[in-house]
Amino acid sequence: MTEYDIAVIPGDGIGPEVVEAAQAVLAECETRYGLTLNYTTYDFSADLYRRTGRKITAADMDEIGMRDAVLFGAMGLPDVRGPEGLELGAQVEMRAHYGLFSSLRPVRLFPGVDGPLKAEKVDMLVIRETSEGMFAGLADEHEPSDESASDRMTITRATSEKLFDVAFSQARARRKRGTPGHVTLLHKSNALRSNVLLEKVFDEVAARNADIGSAKYYIDAGSMYMVTDPGRYDVIVSENIFGDIVSEVAAGLVGGLGVAPSADVSLTHGVFQPSHGSAPDIAGQGIANPTAMILSAAMMLEWLGERRGDDLATRIAHAIQGAVESTLAIGPRARDLGGSAGTREVTDAVISALPPQVDSGRREHV
Ligand code: NAD
Repeated sequence: MTEYDIAVIPGDGIGPEVVEAAQAVLAECETRYGLTLNYTTYDFSADLYRRTGRKITAADMDEIGMRDAVLFGAMGLPDVRGPEGLELGAQVEMRAHYGLFSSLRPVRLFPGVDGPLKAEKVDMLVIRETSEGMFAGLADEHEPSDESASDRMTITRATSEKLFDVAFSQARARRKRGTPGHVTLLHKSNALRSNVLLEKVFDEVAARNADIGSAKYYIDAGSMYMVTDPGRYDVIVSENIFGDIVSEVAAGLVGGLGVAPSADVSLTHGVFQPSHGSAPDIAGQGIANPTAMILSAAMMLEWLGERRGDDLATRIAHAIQGAVESTLAIGPRARDLGGSAGTREVTDAVISALPPQVDSGRREHV
């Protein structure tokens, strides 16, 4: 029996809608495959802050962090801002609190989905550093004014080493599934002192992982190659802000944010959420594409399976990924992919495509 305690934070906008969809798929997996998930749901959201002033605290995060993993919808509303004029987002605070230094964002052009690059194969994993860079909470010493404001980019050896270790081990794991096994650093060491250190540490870690190929591009040229020649990439790794941007470019290559999952992980904690935000423009209409959230839930089971040596959790993750893949291939298709199906219809189709049993013969990946 595979049993896990999961913290659920649905959040704002379409967050609760896509979390409900992922939980419906997981519930079917519980019925079919002998999986037990014990949920504790937390009501943190920008909307809660607007209504009550309550936001997530360190004590809340200590409690949430005792669960095996966190399933997170999306948080933030553009018009809800904290005292510093910035949007609220528990995801940012959790990254700092749990030391979630890497965000794994697999992007793959699924059969049946039209990306902007017709007939182009896209299968890459973008790994974004998420605890430092320009999001480290270290503002420049100058107080922002109406005339000037600045942010500081911080890169540390310790975090960079952990990040690149993750990148090379992910490339090695992907190679077992038929990808080339190759890591590319996107950086800007020609102009940023912080990136000189980033590149130096990358070279050291690459030398220790010589069985895996590696390359480095400046972020500007590397971004162009993502569009003109995405097949050259397997695993891409970058610092926080560059990784934030290129992961969304990558999502755009494979049909958009509705199909782009992500996992924010440290060596001990994992928060699993779609790459998209709360999409206030479509919230409450039942039309959000739940695919990214469902794939994020599959990544959660895959991560738990790898950490615990739990083969059943891993096989269930692959069954969900396979069910998503066949739904994308034959429909129904959500509106952001050019179809007309709503959240529930897509979710039901994924549930119907789940195999009666999970076996160890099939390995799908996102
Ligand atoms: P967004 O990702 O919410 O939406 C961008 C566009 O993609 C919108 O047109 C939206 O309708 C569409 N979209 C996103 N997810 C979709 C889905 N599953 N199905 C169909 N269409 C989908 O980004 P935004 O509009 O820049 O931000 C909205 C809010 O979300 C902001 O408050 C922002 O701070 C927050 N945000 C939160 C997270 C997070 O929780 N991790 C991430 C990004 C943005």
